[in-house]
Amino acid sequence: MAGRIPEDFIAEVRSNVNIVDVISQYVSLEKKGKDYIGLCPFHQEKTPSFTVNEEKQFFKCFGCGKGGNVFKFLMYKDNLTFPESVQRVAEFAHIAMPAGYNTSGGTKLSPIMRINKDAEDFYHRVLLTTKAGERGMQYTKKRQLDSNTLEHFKIGYAPKEDNVLITYLRSKGYKDDDLAQSGLFVQSQDGRLFDRFRDRLIFPLEDENGHSIGFSGRRISNDKTEAKYMNSPETAVFTKSKVLFHFAEAKKAARSEGHLVLYEGYMDVIAAYKAGIKSGVASMGTSLTDDQVYMLRRVTPNIIVNYDGDDPGVHAEERAARMFSKDGDFNLGIVVLPEKLDPDEYVRKYGAEKYQGEVKGALTPTDFFLKRLAQKYNLDNDREKITYLDEAVKEISHVKNPVEQDMYLEKLSRSAGVSLNSLKANLARERRKNNRARSHTRTRNRDYYTDQSNSLNLGEPTSSVETMPVQQTEVQKHPSQSRLLYLFIHSANAQQYLQEGKFHFPDQDYETLSQLWLKFAATHDNPQIDSFLDFIPEQLQGIIVDAELAHMPKDFTIQEINEHVFALQKRSIYSQLNELQNQLQDAKRREDVKKTIEVTQKIIELKRILG
Ligand SMILES: [Zn+2]
Repeated sequence: MAGRIPEDFIAEVRSNVNIVDVISQYVSLEKKGKDYIGLCPFHQEKTPSFTVNEEKQFFKCFGCGKGGNVFKFLMYKDNLTFPESVQRVAEFAHIAMPAGYNTSGGTKLSPIMRINKDAEDFYHRVLLTTKAGERGMQYTKKRQLDSNTLEHFKIGYAPKEDNVLITYLRSKGYKDDDLAQSGLFVQSQDGRLFDRFRDRLIFPLEDENGHSIGFSGRRISNDKTEAKYMNSPETAVFTKSKVLFHFAEAKKAARSEGHLVLYEGYMDVIAAYKAGIKSGVASMGTSLTDDQVYMLRRVTPNIIVNYDGDDPGVHAEERAARMFSKDGDFNLGIVVLPEKLDPDEYVRKYGAEKYQGEVKGALTPTDFFLKRLAQKYNLDNDREKITYLDEAVKEISHVKNPVEQDMYLEKLSRSAGVSLNSLKANLARERRKNNRARSHTRTRNRDYYTDQSNSLNLGEPTSSVETMPVQQTEVQKHPSQSRLLYLFIHSANAQQYLQEGKFHFPDQDYETLSQLWLKFAATHDNPQIDSFLDFIPEQLQGIIVDAELAHMPKDFTIQEINEHVFALQKRSIYSQLNELQNQLQDAKRREDVKKTIEVTQKIIELKRILG
């Protein structure tokens, strides 16, 4: 970076983007009145307290307290410096950085991130362009991975030898210490490093921004003594439980497809991609974690789960369905493929179009559970059929929406050939039981049905979500000073009035801000509050953001100002009185008559002001 980015360029960038568009890439925002709200990307929460104000171009989380303008958002979210953030927003707005101010793409990445990036490029190049890669290429043909797919997923090949990558990365100047931390190598007893991935097809694993942070390698040979799949170990940048394969790309696709599709493995994501479903993600060989559920929820409530059609797959799907339903208001769809096929096999057998139809026809969780239930019983046997109907009604009794409940009951009555009324009677009995159980135990373990009209959020928060005490805003902490500072900034009349009255903010931060505003206004043609934010020290920004987002009226009367000023004076007088009372006690104890009289006089004067 050469020096500071010119201020007018920063202003140009800012005025060419809408903060709502930028943040929407990370958080699914919903319009509520004047503001947009969503789930905070900086802390886990169940009810949205993350707020974006389009008019002011500020964001603020009322849960964890983070707030600021568009630059600040990316600084927090992606751990960027201010110039890096400006550049990122400029890219978003398709504005070229002024000459000499480009922070070159790679330099901001830490060594371990750069190593991962270089390894990704290396493996990819080996596959596509080298003789050593031909073996990998043959395998991709066998798996019907076309060049478009290889490109999109940046698939690569790790050759058989155990020193190819290490030699390459050393030649790029990386230190062994950093290489050892990357997870790409195994270390021998005497400390030497060898390539971890050998003779494997390489699938990069990326973070939310599309930076590769680890790899998964698929065995190519038939050597059963080697694991079929091998992942990078966890490193400083790679935590399995917080990674979803293909998440960065799927997020973009979710906007047009309207949902995310969750798969069991990355081969399924790739198969779905080939079949035209680009919003697929997969957890990395573990069952779904709370972190991953929250990642999905931040993008969209519409999740479709499509695990393998075999028994373990369907069991896992059941678990996932319960987890989603427990953890916030999802609109869940479940796909069960016939003939125990996994998505990859299904697409190969029946083609892309038919597969898209399966995804579109995803079942609701209740339909899914009912279908599973029906498979457990022999419905030609009357006794089993009765048990089945009891269980089914029990399942339906947990649906909160009465219309939906009716719908399932009707379906059940038709398919089982029993009267609707008898099922309804059973349902009423189940519901009474549920209500009793609910009032006895306060647990919500069976509340896995979601219902948009009757949110589960009324219950206690589940253990997976941190309960964070709501932070007080600056406006709540300092109402009068916030209001006066707001008027000081937005009204020349108020400013003049306060200055003529020699008013000073009692809190040093507020006083500093008023002085900074005067300086800013004197040096800028059209001083705007959002550019002011980039002009002031970081620790003071919260005061401005909170005041701007408090929906204060622009209008005021002199009387209102006087009241606030008097409230602050009063507060200051009370604290002075406190101090003087202490001094008085002290003087009396020392029998210092002169001091006693002096302090008493001061106290009388101050009390007179209070009236
Ligand atoms: Zn937050």
